Amino acid sequence: MLYESTRGNSQPVSAAGAIKLGIASDGGLFVPDRSVCVTSGELSAMVRMSYHQRAQALLQLFLTDFTPDEIRDCVAGAYSVEKFDTPEITPVRKLDDHLYVLELWHGPTCAFKDMALQVLPRLLPRAAAKTGEDRDIAILVATSGDTGKAALEGFRDVPGTRIIVFYPARGVSEVQRLQMVTQQGENVHVVAVEGNFDQTQSGVKEIFTDPAVNAAINRQGYRFSSANSINWGRLVPQIVYYFSAYLDLVAQGEISFGQTINFVVPTGNFGNILAAFYARQMGLPVNRLICAANRNNVLTDFIRTGTYDRTREFFRTISPSMDILISSNLERLLYEVTGRDAGRVRGWMAMLQSEGRYRVDGGTLEKIQAVFWSDFAGDPATMETIRNTYRQYGYLMDTHTAVGKYVYDRYVEATGDTGKTVIASTASPFKFNQSVATAVLGEEAVRGKGEFELLEILSRATGLPIPKGLKDLDKKPVRHTLTVAPEEMGRVVQELLTGRN
Ligand SMILES: *Cc1c(COP(=O)(O)O)cnc(C)c1O
Repeated sequence: MLYESTRGNSQPVSAAGAIKLGIASDGGLFVPDRSVCVTSGELSAMVRMSYHQRAQALLQLFLTDFTPDEIRDCVAGAYSVEKFDTPEITPVRKLDDHLYVLELWHGPTCAFKDMALQVLPRLLPRAAAKTGEDRDIAILVATSGDTGKAALEGFRDVPGTRIIVFYPARGVSEVQRLQMVTQQGENVHVVAVEGNFDQTQSGVKEIFTDPAVNAAINRQGYRFSSANSINWGRLVPQIVYYFSAYLDLVAQGEISFGQTINFVVPTGNFGNILAAFYARQMGLPVNRLICAANRNNVLTDFIRTGTYDRTREFFRTISPSMDILISSNLERLLYEVTGRDAGRVRGWMAMLQSEGRYRVDGGTLEKIQAVFWSDFAGDPATMETIRNTYRQYGYLMDTHTAVGKYVYDRYVEATGDTGKTVIASTASPFKFNQSVATAVLGEEAVRGKGEFELLEILSRATGLPIPKGLKDLDKKPVRHTLTVAPEEMGRVVQELLTGRN
């Protein structure tokens, strides 16, 4: 199987090539050049499998140039007992007879990014070797919080790789900052940028394409690669947990084999929900995909009207990992629902670039609406949902997951569909403890308390353990103290890679 660009103007490459390159040379995203199907017999055989065996079987269908042994090693290393705090890896919790929660945050950094960023760092060096690459891989990341830490944990001490994470000096929470600056590992660098996230991200993009920096690091034996969510190597591990959730429900007798279910996904860059779409295309019995947005509701508007318009005010919300106006992975959905019409996709992406908006045709919109439904939650509704869900079910959810729950309730109201539904829970409630503690304990209990004190308070009040990855962060040694101006980022990359810093 080969991977082709959604914009149709670059050569198809192998899975290894797609993972190494991250993005196609014409600016498009890599997608499989044929559909991948799982038969009912194959699906039924997976009911009795462990998460690891399911992952192995499904990854192999897409990564056809990787050997079974290679995939087994990647999966075993990624989802190990040292990394994940439950052997189920992605447990499904039952709220009531209609509603379930798929917990995707049992990995080392307590957000769903671990599901893919534990696998990608293991695929990448093998992909480089397969494509005849003799240089080491240097990963550059610009982060507003969750991705940076998950990428650092994933790439730490992976042979043949170095990783440099840039974060805006005053743009991340104290927990997120400490998660990064205390990072262990011999191949990791964390750098604060005196600027905002946009400047940090532009800085990284410039370095990627700067011929002088590229030539310099090539001489030092490196090539750049990307760990962001447009890399196919991040998408394919996410398909696995949708299958796994379905199979668990069958195994537990909650649904009969072949019965359809819905998934609700709190969405930002459209990566997570796109994996659910691929699972559905492959034959997983899925009815609707419910796209839950926060106040930055560009996707809700798109799914309802067919117009994607990023020229709007940007809001900071209490679900910051969904504060995004350009959902890059939507491009892959457009490619699939137009029957792989690269010309049309290219046109829309050019419009997005030049005008900040585009409108899809009626036929395309109809195909999208046949699968997707969308609504959004503002911050007050999100807080209320955390509180009510805790009262009603004794279940504590983080702000992103609560956006999903709120939108699910709107979906049932609007459609009357009470079919079995699974909400993807994307972060541990402890990761966003300020909002979560306020929602369930009230303003009084939280006033004047530091983030680490709140972890303890929340844990005592709910009886839930503080995740290992967040515990004692304030007592760990700080290993990364470098702060630079945005215009110094390129120089710092060169110095770090040549060991002069
Ligand atoms: C990244 C993230 C999201 C959004 O996922 P996308 O794949 O970008 O749509 C939602 N919730 C949390 C906690 C995240 O870290």
